[in-house]
Amino acid sequence: MHADIVVLPGDGIGPEIVAATLPVLQAVAARHGHEFRFTEHDIGGIAIDRHGVPLPDATLAAARTADAVLLGAVGGPKWSDPKAKVRPEQGLLAIRKALGLFANLRPVKPHAAALDASPIKPELLQDVDIVVVRELTGGIYFGDKTRSDTDATDLCRYSVAEVERVVRRAATLARTRRGHLTSVDKANVLETSRLWRDVTTRVMRDEFADVTLEHQLVDSMAMHLLSKPRAYDVIVTENMFGDILTDEASMLAGSLGLLASASLGEGKVGIYEPIHGSAPDIAGRGIANPYATILSAAMLLRHSLGLEAEAASIEAAVSAALDARVFTADLAPAGQAVDTTQAAQAVIDRLR
Ligand code: NAD
Repeated sequence: MHADIVVLPGDGIGPEIVAATLPVLQAVAARHGHEFRFTEHDIGGIAIDRHGVPLPDATLAAARTADAVLLGAVGGPKWSDPKAKVRPEQGLLAIRKALGLFANLRPVKPHAAALDASPIKPELLQDVDIVVVRELTGGIYFGDKTRSDTDATDLCRYSVAEVERVVRRAATLARTRRGHLTSVDKANVLETSRLWRDVTTRVMRDEFADVTLEHQLVDSMAMHLLSKPRAYDVIVTENMFGDILTDEASMLAGSLGLLASASLGEGKVGIYEPIHGSAPDIAGRGIANPYATILSAAMLLRHSLGLEAEAASIEAAVSAALDARVFTADLAPAGQAVDTTQAAQAVIDRLR
C-alpha cells in the first residue's frame, strides 16, 4: 500500500524520538512491500520561532490530506512564559480540534521485563491490560477562559453528542476485549459529570447491553488504578481526568517512555504520539526512550492504515527488545543504558 504520513517532530526530545521511529516504519514498509511517504512540518515551539504561530496553516493543510500524522512532543522552557500570547500546547489542541479527533486511546500494559522500573509491587501488575479512552476535544481545556488581577475562570462544558460519540468508541473497543467499561466522572460535584453519567448509562443500556458498565468517581479511581489495576479493561473519561489518570497509569508500565497514544475521530486520519512531553531535561543528549513513539507508530499502522499484522510485528519487536533488556536510561540500571538510536535499532533487528 501507499501511504502519506505527516511527521511533526516538535520540540525537545520530539525530533530525536521521531528520527528514531521513522527507520522502524521504513523497515516495516520494506518487509511488507508498502511505500510510506513522510513529509515533515512544524508544530509547537519551533513553529512559533519560525512562523509566529504554534500551528502554521501549512501544517494543518498537510495533516488534513494525509493518511496519518506522527507527532513527537511540543513545549519547553523557552516558550513557557506565563504571559506569552502564543504557547506550543495551543498547536496541539488546535490540530486535534481541527481534525475532529475526539477520542484519545492510551493502552497501558506493563511489560514483564520493565516491572522492576515501576514503583508498584510487581504482583499487582501481573496481567494488567488497560486502555484509557480520553475525551480529547471538549471539557475545561477548551472552554472560555477569563483572567483579571484578582481571579480567573475556566469553563467546563460538554454536550450530549460529545459524550455519546466517545462512549460509543470506548464501548466498541471494550466489546473486542474483555467486555468491561469503566466510566470515570465526578458526578457527586460537577454538573458536566452528571450529564456524562446519564448519557453513558443510556448509550450503554440501549446499544451495548453485552458490555458491563461500571461508574467510578475520579478521586477513588486514582486510588484503584494503583491498588487493583488488574480490575480494569477499558476506561472512558473526560479530557482533564483522562490527562491526569493516564500519567498516573504510566507508572504501572514503569516509564512515561513506554506509553503510546492514538487520537481518533470519525474518519481514518489520526494523530499518533507518545503520551509524554518534550522532556527538556534530557533533550539533545540522544538518551530519550523511543519505544513510546515506536509503539505509537504501530497504532498508526493499525488504526489509520488498517495494517494489523505490521502493527503487531512492531509491538512484538518492542516486546522482544524489552525482554532482551535493551533499556534506555529511564529503565536501565546505572551504566547499562543504550541510547535512543540503539534502542530503535534493537526493534528493527527483531522485526519478523
Ligand atoms: P515530560 O513528559 O516531558 O517529562 C516528565 C519526565 O519524564 C521528565 O523527567 C522526562 O525526562 C521524563 N521523560 C519523558 N519522556 C521520556 C522519554 N521518552 N524517555 C525518557 N524519559 C522521558 O513532562 P514535563 O516535564 O511536565 O513537560 C515538559 C514539556 O513538555 C512542557 O513544556 C510541557 O508543556 C510539554 N508537554 C507536552 C506534551 C505533548 O507534546 N503531548 C505532553 C506533556 C507535556
